Amino acid sequence: MLLGDQTWPELGDYFEDESLAFVPLGSTEQHGPHLPEATDAIIAQGFAREAARRTGYLCTPTVDIGVSPHHRQFHGTMWVDAPVFRDYVESFTRNLTYHGIDRVIFVNAHGGNVDHLREVGRRLRDDEELYAIEWMWDESITERIEEVFETPGPHGGPKETSLVWHLRPELVRENRIEDARDGGLTEFGEETGRVHGARTFYDAIDNTGNGVLGDQTDASPEVGEELFEAACDHLVELAGWLDDQPFEELVPKAHV
Ligand SMILES: [Zn+2]
Repeated sequence: MLLGDQTWPELGDYFEDESLAFVPLGSTEQHGPHLPEATDAIIAQGFAREAARRTGYLCTPTVDIGVSPHHRQFHGTMWVDAPVFRDYVESFTRNLTYHGIDRVIFVNAHGGNVDHLREVGRRLRDDEELYAIEWMWDESITERIEEVFETPGPHGGPKETSLVWHLRPELVRENRIEDARDGGLTEFGEETGRVHGARTFYDAIDNTGNGVLGDQTDASPEVGEELFEAACDHLVELAGWLDDQPFEELVPKAHV
């Protein structure tokens, strides 16, 4: 059920029985020469809407501008400052409790949002108002991703390329996939950009000339579909688990 497509009486029926919502969050930022700037928003919305369709739970509108200052050197990247993002997400999430929502899954597809969504979740939980958790699709299927791709790439790599190819094939610039690999950084690991253990880089452009990481030529729409289905199953299960928890179990434990 998509919140934006419902009328208020229809939503009244939902809130009578249910108290869970999916909130999709992405970004609008460069994803190399072959993927659209909406990549993360497309992926987050794809998962949240499909999980809502399968479970009957509510899906809110998508937040499609996130914390992306580290991509600003590339044309078109939009971002908000981290404190603004935290306050905005906290505010509309807190206000969902006014209608009876007391548990939320932040269906997130942008790494730059993670810490801030965790902080929002902490604030709301500490106030014992609402329990919100952050979920990234690729973290639910890490082993499968490592089997499928030699270099999955955390940004604009074959992982995200395959997902967009499955969800919005018309937006993948297939004739730029080799450029994406050749102009970016194929091998990206824990040690990349580290000096004596310190992470020395701040921006994507510090490591990659065209903004992307990984070998995009490993991507395909078929792999995208397989990964989408596998991660979506986890999201559906997670929602079932969350709905089953008594609210008292979700709030902070008392001091010893
Ligand atoms: Zn992305």
